[in-house]
Amino acid sequence: MAQYQDHMLILKSRVYRESDVLLTLFGIKSGKIGAVAKGARRPKSRLAGVYPLSYVICQLYHGRSSLDTVNGVDLVEGFPGLQKDLSKLSWALLLADLVDEMFSERDPAPEVVPWIIAAWDRLAREGSHLTTALSTGWQLLKLAGYIPRWETCDVCGDIPRQNSVGVDWDQDVMYCSKHLPPSSEQSRGMEISLGSFRTWQGWMALDVTKLGNYEAKGIIGDQLFFLFGRYIERHIGRMPRSWQFVREVENIGEQERNRLF
Ligand SMILES: [Zn+2]
Repeated sequence: MAQYQDHMLILKSRVYRESDVLLTLFGIKSGKIGAVAKGARRPKSRLAGVYPLSYVICQLYHGRSSLDTVNGVDLVEGFPGLQKDLSKLSWALLLADLVDEMFSERDPAPEVVPWIIAAWDRLAREGSHLTTALSTGWQLLKLAGYIPRWETCDVCGDIPRQNSVGVDWDQDVMYCSKHLPPSSEQSRGMEISLGSFRTWQGWMALDVTKLGNYEAKGIIGDQLFFLFGRYIERHIGRMPRSWQFVREVENIGEQERNRLF
């Protein structure tokens, strides 16, 4: 039982009991935790400013309950631009959901925090939202321990250099254009263009200060959006609701255009 302080992302908040707010936080030291901000719904509460998609310094109390208690919050960065634009908001919420889904409670993963700060900041200000959010999404997967071995063809061992490649999210292998598996009913992979594959490779090798590089436009963006969704579905188990929200807001393409195998 102890008081502690941490730099934290506020991922989510929801109404709890009469005047409280239940927060999902992700701290540099603490990892993901659930906490109650007591009285935060009262207008005069000193916790009245707690809202999701922000970065704060939080004072907390950890007692016998699985939920910690928030005693104080100081805003570090509020990313106000996110709340003014439905597209920015939908992608920012998706990243918050992905962090929530991918990481277990009280299991610190401090590298997550700078990625989310950089992504929310960039979404709030500039650039391609899809590129920012999906390249961050793949980095989150990497930090959570999911690293697809999409490097050389599983059949011939070559590094693909032309046309397209097949990426298999079930077995975590890939195929060059000569050895693409035939289409099947139960899809476990899809064919993507070499351009999409190179963009994905760029994203996987990215440093947080270079977020926004390897912009995915047009069909490349569509393919990488769909691929990320399938990978999450297979490895994390379910898609957060914000995924559908992003698709609707961005009017993202027909999945049928992609050849599956
Ligand atoms: Zn091959």
